[in-house]
Amino acid sequence: MKGKVHMQIDILSLFPEMFVSPFESSIVKRAREKGVVNINLINLRDFARDRHQQVDDYPYGGGAGMVMKADVIMRAVKAVRKEHSQVIYLSPRGRPLSQALVRELAAASHLVLLCGHYEGIDERAYTVIDQEVSIGDYVLTGGEIPAMVVTDAVIRLLPGALGAEESPEEESFTGGLLEYPHYTRPQEVEGLKVPEVLISGHHQNIERWRKKQALKRTLLQRPDLLLERNFDEEERQLLMEIIFTREEHDGQ
Ligand code: SAM
Repeated sequence: MKGKVHMQIDILSLFPEMFVSPFESSIVKRAREKGVVNINLINLRDFARDRHQQVDDYPYGGGAGMVMKADVIMRAVKAVRKEHSQVIYLSPRGRPLSQALVRELAAASHLVLLCGHYEGIDERAYTVIDQEVSIGDYVLTGGEIPAMVVTDAVIRLLPGALGAEESPEEESFTGGLLEYPHYTRPQEVEGLKVPEVLISGHHQNIERWRKKQALKRTLLQRPDLLLERNFDEEERQLLMEIIFTREEHDGQ
């Protein structure tokens, strides 16, 4: 590893082996090798203190499923917490993950991601948790995949994680819009052509076309993203064109 490590991520899980393959590929692997991020996979079972290394138990009051023990979680979090750590419990009842939240998390120097399993965690473990994050309104078997999602989204925003040719600045959600469409060679595939403007070399027209496509996509696919938007003059004009001009080919 070279240079200063921008962020440390400690992942507390009962199944740390689940992370090995996703973190050994592509951009995450490269970011780790470059020292952009340091990821520690920590087995919660190492913090169980009884003979059988028990990490879960039956719920008080009865009911289905097992509950992860508070003392195990508390010991694990205390072992890794530093002064500026953000301890996050991945949970379906948490704050929904968005690009804005990813940006907030990417500004931290140390993230601790706690992965639940079974029925979840003993309520008393919340005393060592700073915030809960959900990756969507559905229930997964464990917090491992959500922790991978958070880790992946955060790492690609860290300085040095993406190469010069890959930029997080123009992509979906960054400017409050979905991203414009992309094309690469060849110029024609099964009769489908690349929009002329993109091969015109006219930089300003390309920018305008991209902005218009981003607005159009957002309007059609995620109109909710536009509700709070302060449209500038150019965007107003483009929206009028989108609404009042019939276009033959979506890409043109
Ligand atoms: N009984 C819990 C409930 O109803 O909220 C669900 C527990 S779930 C089966 C097991 C674990 O998976 C949770 O403790 C949490 O860590 C993780 N998990 C499941 N769905 C998730 C989601 N949408 N976002 C983040 N974490 C999730």
